[in-house]
This record gives sequence, structure tokens and C-alpha cells, in this order.
Amino acid sequence: MTEFALIGRYFQPPPMHAETIKGVGDDCALVELAAHQRLAVSMDTLVAGRHFPDAAAPADIARRVFCTTISDLAAVGAEPRWLTLGLTLPTVDHPWLAAFSQSLLGLCADYGCELIGGDTTQGPLSITAQVHGVVSSEAFLRRDAARPGDQLWVTGTLGDGAAALAMLQGACDFSGAHQGYLHQRFYCPRPQIIAGMHLLHHAHAAIDISDGLLADLQHIATASAVDIHLDIQCLPLSDACRSVPLALARQWALTGGDDYQLAFTLDPAQVPKVEHFIRQGIMTAAPIGRVVPPAEDQSTVHCYLQGRPWSAPSRRGYQHFAP
Ligand code: ADP
Ligand code: MG
Repeated sequence: MTEFALIGRYFQPPPMHAETIKGVGDDCALVELAAHQRLAVSMDTLVAGRHFPDAAAPADIARRVFCTTISDLAAVGAEPRWLTLGLTLPTVDHPWLAAFSQSLLGLCADYGCELIGGDTTQGPLSITAQVHGVVSSEAFLRRDAARPGDQLWVTGTLGDGAAALAMLQGACDFSGAHQGYLHQRFYCPRPQIIAGMHLLHHAHAAIDISDGLLADLQHIATASAVDIHLDIQCLPLSDACRSVPLALARQWALTGGDDYQLAFTLDPAQVPKVEHFIRQGIMTAAPIGRVVPPAEDQSTVHCYLQGRPWSAPSRRGYQHFAP
């Protein structure tokens, strides 16, 4: 089967948006933006053996690549619109391609994100997804907008990504119910798109937690030139994480990656609005700290436990090429 037949068979979805002038099949995709909209663009690459186990099921891989990529749109408050896909495949494996594309296109439909193009090559399995979202030209959640006096909040629970990885690597045992939950959290993290879109006009700074809470909060602290005080007792933990020793659960919550929740800072006057969203079931979120003026030259994240300084684990999240 040729590359073009393969694309036509697996990666040519029906049209989804009126704003898509040209989708898969030409040299470029062509899309239209309304006058008051801006395009938000983000890309992620997942490499077999590095970001997911070599033997992972194709449907799970598709879910993971889609969810991790679209999470960046959530962080800026954008609404998903388009996806482009770079696919490097070792062989043309039809059952694999059928399961992968069905899973991916299903998620595309769920999130209103239309596959409009890509590139297909032969080589070791690797998948790159680029998402394109739209955001109002008046607002955009960003890392550099935290202000002293803001409260720090986080959506959902933390540490599940690391717990799931420990389970999949056989490093940690969980009971049956927790196993199912963690498998879901690993292969289908729930990108906080709805939360991001609702926070757009209320939060100051936001970031999605992909490398670990401490590492990602450090990005907000540095970009905003503020210090962040994190209250360790407030870290929201799932029942699965509560089933392991607290010190381990906290380490996962602070330094484990792949949670894909949103951390955001709020003027205290905006807290009732967020509490209203929570009551309406639009998001789950909890306060975990506050933003303060920088005490030294370097903007820093400080941890506190019962009001006392608490030393955080030294490894602050995952970085490629780190020594
Ligand atoms: P070109 O040679 O002009 O770069 P390609 O042969 O790479 O074009 O791709 C042909 C068409 O198929 C293009 O519209 C491209 O965007 C699309 N395409 C290629 N690979 C994929 C893929 N994995 N998913 C979706 N669309 C794809
Ligand atoms: Mg061309």
C-alpha cells in the first residue's frame, strides 16, 4: 500500500468545521479565522520506548498523544479546532493503523478538533501532533501574569501520572479498582479544556502540569518574577495515591509528570467565580498556595507544611537531555 492510499484509508476524516477551507489532500491545509480570534498552536512528540511502552496498544497511544497535546490548549484557555499529525511507522501494520486512527479520530470528534493534514514516513515508531486552537483576541492565559496577592489553585488531583507509570513499570502494586483508574489516567488524561476556557477571563496565570507541579510552577514564578508559596497539605490526591505512603504520594504529586491538570493563579476577588464553576460541575479545583513578591533575585517556589518551611524532593520534574 502506498503512503497516499494509507492516508486516504486511515487519516481522511469527514469535514468538521466551516472554517476549514481545505483539509487532508492538498499541499497545505487552509483555515479561516474570525476577526476577533487568534490562533493558539502547540506541538508534542511521543517516541516509542521513551514516552510509552513499545508494546502499548495503538488505541492507547493515540489517546495519549492527543490528550497530552491538547492539554497545552487548555493551559492558554483556547478552544481546539485543528490537528496535524506527523507519523513515523516501522511498517504498514493495518490492524495497528485501524485501531490507532479510529481512536484518534474519535477523540478529534469528541473535542471538536479536525485532522487537516500531516506527514507520514517510515522509521522507528514516533508520533508528533500539532494542535491549533482559537482564543479571543482579548484574553489568553499565560505563564507570566501571576501577581503577588494571587491565590494558587490546581484542577483535579496530582500524582496520578507518576503513580500510573510506577504501576505500568511494575514498581508499585495497586488494588484492582485503583489499577483501572490509573490506567485511564495514564492513557487518557482528561485535558482541562472546559476549565481553561472558563478561567480565561478570571485567572491571571496558568500552566498545564506536564513535567511535575514544582517544575511547572517554577515556570510561572520565573516568567512572572514572583515567589510561590505552596502548602504541601493542600495537594489534592486521588484515592489511588492515598493508598500508598503519604511521602511517596506527595513526591509523585510534586515531581511526577503527566498529570495534565491546570495550575492557575487568581485574584482573591475571583475566587467566588471559580467556586461557582466548581458547584456547577464545570471543573474540580482546590487552592494549594499563594503568590508573593520575590524574596531574592531568583523567583522561587517554596514549600510549607503546617506553616513551616518544608524541603521539597530535589528532582523537580522530567527534562530530556538533563544530566
Ligand atoms: P507533500 O508531499 O506535498 O508534503 P504528503 O505526500 O506528505 O504531501 O501528504 C499528502 C497529504 O496528506 C497532505 O495533505 C498531508 O497533509 C496529508 N497527510 C500526510 N500524512 C498524514 C497523516 N499522518 N495524517 C493526516 N494527513 C496526512
Ligand atoms: Mg507538496
